[in-house]
Amino acid sequence: MEKQMHKYKFKAEVKQLLDILTHSLYSSREIFLRELLSNASDALEKLRFESLKGTDIADKDLPEEITISFDKDKKILTVTDTGIGMTEKEIVKNIGTIAKSGTSEFLKKAVSEKGNAANIIGQFGVGFYSVFMVADEVVIKTRSFLPDAEPVQWHSDGVGSFEVETLDEKIPRGTSIEIHLKEDAVEFAEKWKLEDVVKKHSNFIPFPIKIENEQVNKIRAIWREPKFQLKEKDYEEFYKFLTYDQEGPLDTLHVSVDAPVQFNSIVFFPKKNYEMFGLGKNEHGLDLYVRRILIRHEFEDLLPEYLRFLRGVVDSEDIPLNVSRETLQENAIITKIRNNLVGQILSHLAKMAEKEKEKYNTFWQEFSERFKLGYTDYANQEKFAGLLRFNSSAVESEKDLVSLDDYIGRVKEEQKEIYYIFAQNRDAIENNPHMEIFRKKGLEVLYLYHPVDEFVMDALQKYKDYELKSAESIDASKLEKFENVEKAKKVKKLNKEDEKIFDKLLRRMKDILGDRVTEVKASQRLTDSPSCLVSPDGTMSSGMQKIMQLMNKDMSIPKKVMEVNPDHPLVRDLIRIYDADSKDELLTQVTEQLYESALLTEGYLRDPHVMVNRIEKLMEKSTRWYLEHNQLEK
Ligand code: ADP
Ligand code: MG
Repeated sequence: MEKQMHKYKFKAEVKQLLDILTHSLYSSREIFLRELLSNASDALEKLRFESLKGTDIADKDLPEEITISFDKDKKILTVTDTGIGMTEKEIVKNIGTIAKSGTSEFLKKAVSEKGNAANIIGQFGVGFYSVFMVADEVVIKTRSFLPDAEPVQWHSDGVGSFEVETLDEKIPRGTSIEIHLKEDAVEFAEKWKLEDVVKKHSNFIPFPIKIENEQVNKIRAIWREPKFQLKEKDYEEFYKFLTYDQEGPLDTLHVSVDAPVQFNSIVFFPKKNYEMFGLGKNEHGLDLYVRRILIRHEFEDLLPEYLRFLRGVVDSEDIPLNVSRETLQENAIITKIRNNLVGQILSHLAKMAEKEKEKYNTFWQEFSERFKLGYTDYANQEKFAGLLRFNSSAVESEKDLVSLDDYIGRVKEEQKEIYYIFAQNRDAIENNPHMEIFRKKGLEVLYLYHPVDEFVMDALQKYKDYELKSAESIDASKLEKFENVEKAKKVKKLNKEDEKIFDKLLRRMKDILGDRVTEVKASQRLTDSPSCLVSPDGTMSSGMQKIMQLMNKDMSIPKKVMEVNPDHPLVRDLIRIYDADSKDELLTQVTEQLYESALLTEGYLRDPHVMVNRIEKLMEKSTRWYLEHNQLEK
């Protein structure tokens, strides 16, 4: 057969990555071996899967294992596996491009944080290319498991290009990676060093790793060992192996369940959310083992989406070993395991929240945004709701958090509702006119800062016996039953006559605003502000409305009720002006301005020009009056 050689250029992104790897990450370069061993393990896992499915496999009797050999004089290190191998097409596609999302973010991070690169590289798993941290030349020989696949050789110096050719020599199924070590990396051709690195990073690889015919890794299934025999260190080592994290986990849950299904599981709560470092989506799922044999790495279906930042393993005796990828997805046993596990995880978090507040706060800080998506888990709604935390009017700073149970512990007699309000930040809430009545009555309001909070509240509707209510759409007359805690300011009530004029003024204001508001009425909720816009009771809160509008690309301004505070000095002046001349132009200007101010604070004002123009006119008038009033003009 004719030998054919093809030369390929590395993609730009690969070149960039190679450049960083070869030049800036000296201190953590031993992880190249972890990456190659993890690829070898993946390849063996894929092969096992094919074989369980009954696919025809080349060299069927080869043992499933990884071998590391070395030659110090020649400065060569070779890592060989008997895994799935690659065809020519596959090797060109898999090694030469980068498929992983988030790689360019990683590159930027790695470049800008050289000092911290070890941590980033650890989290990201830069894969095969990391071999060029120690190699100036790499030769891959591989043969696919497909019975009639031809052996292929890949060769590169890791600079600009690589060559691929079919091989004449017959090689066994799998892949061997021959690494020509750089002058300063010959230590990786020494037995003690290799053993050391394997033990440190790859001890839990579920296939034998052999150096000079000796198995180096332990292949410990610690999730099946009794808890009392395990030390913190054992868990930590396993966690680091699973996650490439340099730190240990925040917390560990180790369970052993017999009914309704048998399974053992270790679930780790990480300390940090690396998603926030721009390292792609934190979507993992647990590794699925069947009787100690790895079936699926990072199997999503074992956890619902809102818990997929957790790491760990599940091992079950009840799943048949020869289960296929497809049937695994709809397997009733998997569903049972998941349901049980979710219950245990939520209970564990509840215990953490109660007994280890600081730990829970760390968890909340890092993962709450993802965790809150649990509002869709109707089966566990009450448990989920109990774990939520919010900022609140009852605490001092934006950093303090309360739970719904904390809130319930403080409710007033006869209070059957939990109030919340949505805003950008705490300052915005404190200036929101809707808060005035709650302050006056001393009613606690939960502060919601994230769009997802709105969905959470909307989905929950209730917690224990309390209804969740948006402070913005509450009917203020229902709050009258609560006593005032703030001393009401001494404002003289309107007399009968002025009350009538006030009613007419409200009608005039409605005429001015027309269809833009559903109603203009006297307010019972305001103390410090002249007016506000209120969603009619029972409709969505303004935050939710905005989200829905964004989703529907709806640019209209929702119609609300305008409430006017009869005790505010500005409104008192308007009553006098109306009394003097019900058609006075100033009434129009002030009404328009009050309306647009409310739109502005709620984020609905699309075009500020008209408003700015009006304010300037009003200022012009008021400065004129000021001069005249104070007789300042010469
Ligand atoms: P990742 O492992 O995250 O996919 P890598 O850069 O480590 O990224 O590897 C790229 C791809 O090359 C793998 O996804 C796999 O398809 C292929 N590959 C690498 N090493 C091997 C191997 N030993 N056997 C078979 N395929 C391999
Ligand atoms: Mg890899």
